[in-house]
Amino acid sequence: MISEKMKPMVENNSVIRVMFEEGKRLSALYGAENVYDFSLGNPNVPAPDAVKESILEVLDQEESTFVHGYMSNAGYEDVREAVAQSLNRRFGTDFGYQNILMTVGAASGLNVILKTILDPGDEVMVFAPFFLEYGNYVRNYDGKLVVVSPNTSDFQPNLQEFEEKITAKTRAVIINSPNNPTGVVYSSQTLHALANILREKEKALGREILLISDEPYRELAYDGVEVPYVTKYYGNSVVCYSYSKSLSLPGERIGYLVIPSQLKDSGDVTVAAAIANRVLGSVNAPSLMQRVIKRCIEKDVSVNLEAYDKNRNLLYQGLQECGFTCIKPEGAFYLFVKSPVEDEKEFCAKAQTHNLLLVPGSSFACPGYVRIAYCVSYGQIERSLPAFRALAQEYGLKSKGKPGLGK
Ligand code: PLP
Repeated sequence: MISEKMKPMVENNSVIRVMFEEGKRLSALYGAENVYDFSLGNPNVPAPDAVKESILEVLDQEESTFVHGYMSNAGYEDVREAVAQSLNRRFGTDFGYQNILMTVGAASGLNVILKTILDPGDEVMVFAPFFLEYGNYVRNYDGKLVVVSPNTSDFQPNLQEFEEKITAKTRAVIINSPNNPTGVVYSSQTLHALANILREKEKALGREILLISDEPYRELAYDGVEVPYVTKYYGNSVVCYSYSKSLSLPGERIGYLVIPSQLKDSGDVTVAAAIANRVLGSVNAPSLMQRVIKRCIEKDVSVNLEAYDKNRNLLYQGLQECGFTCIKPEGAFYLFVKSPVEDEKEFCAKAQTHNLLLVPGSSFACPGYVRIAYCVSYGQIERSLPAFRALAQEYGLKSKGKPGLGK
């Protein structure tokens, strides 16, 4: 009964989920406090209190048939306007409600925009390492994923290879900053260079190429680092945003797409995207959560970034002291560590014997590295450090000393 298109997806069912199950098995054996599960990007910082307050306010103060009713497929106009004004205040953009489409998280935003623009055989480019679901989303619409190989010196995108791989079939490129799995933030310089390449290629090929910026981690940036707003660099760009990480609401499935007016055929794209939202079966983003988001914007609510920052510093410092190699992440809640042996899956298996659950880099098209998700309790990181030390010793790693806590 399973379709040919689904079969490979079933076979490749995410390693991360398998790890999660393994974590549960080990917890039952050794006790949860002795298992160090760093496999899932599920925020451990609770949603801000204002979320619960806002839910209660909406239910108390807004009319039930309105709160729970259908609305325009693009979402409530007042919510979209609140999102647009919040972006304008923070990033100096010029959006109105017509540029915002509320979505069922970033995953849905990506599917909506890909369905809106892709014809069969169209190519979508991504920079390794990347969130592997992109491949599934592109295949949903019979597009072809084109992978640009990783630049392991600093994990900024490999722009030379990118330029070389653009073809007459290229329709879009997906970027993700702050990045899962590296924690890298794409600099303003990178975005300028990327935008210049795209503009030149558009001219040469006589075809629009859409820049899709997947930004679930936008608000998770440390040390005051700037996360540049892509629509200011390149006209044909859209932003996929999500509240899954920025308000710790991954199960609520709420986010939005930004479709700027300067995008080619912006009005038509917006209408098509709202229809895509409907025909993909989501119909509209969850209504109660849309109402809550408006209130959270008015209250200027944000997640407790300090908790993730403390985790980042403790883990980065701990890993350096053990002798592991990784760049210090500037955003998101992941560390991407170089495996001491070429086969990082073997390294993950060894880590597991120390009750450390790490995700192999091949799950992000970047073998030779492992991802550690530090959206866990500070206590888990503290308790895990002796296990990391023992693991490092098995590979004969030498301590890199105590790093400074700055950049
Ligand atoms: N994009 C990236 C890079 C992610 O890491 C995730 C989730 O972990 C998503 C998209 C999906 O997020 P959402 O929960 O908003 O669908």
